Amino acid sequence: MSGGTYEMPQIEMLPERMAGKLSLWYNFSMSTFTMLSKGRVVLADGAVGTELMKLGLKSGASTAEWNLSHPDCVRRVAASYVEIGCEMILTNTFGANRFQLERYGLAGKTAEINRVGAALTAEACSGRARVSGCIGPSGKLLVMEEVAEEALYESFLEQAESQKRGGADLITVMTMTDTAEMTIAVKAVAAAGLPVIASMTYEYKNGEYRTIMGNTPEQAVKAAGAAGASAIGANCGYGPDGYINLAPILRDLSDLPVYIKSNAGLPELVDGQPVYRMSADEFASSAPVLLENGTTIIGGCCGTGPDYLEKLKPIVDRWNERGTA
Ligand SMILES: [Zn+2]
Repeated sequence: MSGGTYEMPQIEMLPERMAGKLSLWYNFSMSTFTMLSKGRVVLADGAVGTELMKLGLKSGASTAEWNLSHPDCVRRVAASYVEIGCEMILTNTFGANRFQLERYGLAGKTAEINRVGAALTAEACSGRARVSGCIGPSGKLLVMEEVAEEALYESFLEQAESQKRGGADLITVMTMTDTAEMTIAVKAVAAAGLPVIASMTYEYKNGEYRTIMGNTPEQAVKAAGAAGASAIGANCGYGPDGYINLAPILRDLSDLPVYIKSNAGLPELVDGQPVYRMSADEFASSAPVLLENGTTIIGGCCGTGPDYLEKLKPIVDRWNERGTA
């Protein structure tokens, strides 16, 4: 099924320049649901958090709070990806659930931080790219009963509804390690009426991929699909090479599009801070294999900035024009 998922053969019969234009038109006239179908590869964006750090965000500070205190920086990071041609831009709301914000005394601003975060990305996109809301883990362990399922659902629903009000076209539930928590978040987004991508972080150990909570790709994909996800995938953790063998596993587990956003390699700890050293060229060199292996939504996570996405762009364009890497 590797290159066989390409479903626009009529494009190949057109002169190359025309095909490029047609696929651009096709891109912006279709619904977000259709965009997430397996017909073509979608170029997502790179990291938000590590880019904001370059603009002065201190580690240990609330990244999501910058939606209120540094809106220009948040807009600027989103715009940098729109300018390259990324089609799906994440909001700066990864840790913006009330459990995480509580640690900064910001729980009362949860709805505002999520709504403003989506609005800032929507301004940067100005109709040229889709606004993907972003929901990350609560930081509470269901299995340890640190939080009740109902409270978790309410918290994710608050995020999803606020992001929708701010202009989110879809929401990516990401960096999840517990299938149960991911499922609750996916259901909350579905209840808010938005398409949802469900993305987990995996480790490869003893010959298999599992999350640190012990969940397999099979469990995650099955649960995500049943909860109403429009796409499934993996992000963070490894560099692209670490997910090359996971992509075909995810592809074969369902008919849903496969989303892969890996880091700029494994981080090195420098003064207790993660530093990502994989170059943009090295990062992009794995992209053709990721596409061959079934990835249909591709971008970058921690340590990948606009320069990395710029390298992915021609690879994705080539794939969409010719159906091959
Ligand atoms: Zn990451």
